[in-house]
Amino acid sequence: MSADLLVLPPRLVLASHNAGKLVELEELMAPLGVAVVGAGTLGLPEPEETGDTYVANALLKAHAAARGSGLPALSDDSGLSVAALGGKPGIHSARWAGPERDFRLAMKKVEEALGDDPDRRASFHCVLALAWPDGSERVFEGCVDGHLEFPPRGGNGFGYDPIFVPDGGSRTFGEMAPAEKKAHNHRARAFARLLGAADFH
Ligand code: IMP
Repeated sequence: MSADLLVLPPRLVLASHNAGKLVELEELMAPLGVAVVGAGTLGLPEPEETGDTYVANALLKAHAAARGSGLPALSDDSGLSVAALGGKPGIHSARWAGPERDFRLAMKKVEEALGDDPDRRASFHCVLALAWPDGSERVFEGCVDGHLEFPPRGGNGFGYDPIFVPDGGSRTFGEMAPAEKKAHNHRARAFARLLGAADFH
């Protein structure tokens, strides 16, 4: 067996307090026979995201949960990058929604920042980090390109889903059923890389 092969643990903490991410991560993990528990369920605090990259923040969250629980932990750091805004809101995607986590407000802010700029290109990025209580770690990245449309459409998903249309499609993530969003999205792509590294024998 190659030293690089990832051996999935029987039990894993999902190092996120974001309900939308937890639903998607639980669904991705479900076929693997790995028992998952959310960080919030274990009473683990939400660490401050002090990193300046997705990788740094994902690792910070995964290590905090692994240390706090004594179990391997899987975290997700992700965000929306808008080309005409120089990549913003990027790693600050959650913060644009303010303390109330108001994504109607965040989407409005994006629309206002774009003004009448015709360049509507955007991408979603996701870094999944796995950390073990002994301090070891692995990271997996995924992204999806698309463009933004206003006003927001669709009540599915979470965050910026109602304004993002993936390349090749005409409907927003917010208008897609979960299985359809899964076929296109940044988190599922990062997860596919994790699966590609995993040893199932
Ligand atoms: P963080 O990773 O906790 O910093 O938060 C990432 C933020 O990016 C989320 O709160 C959402 O606003 C946004 N985001 C990440 N992934 C998605 C997605 O799949 N759909 C919509 N918004 C997302």
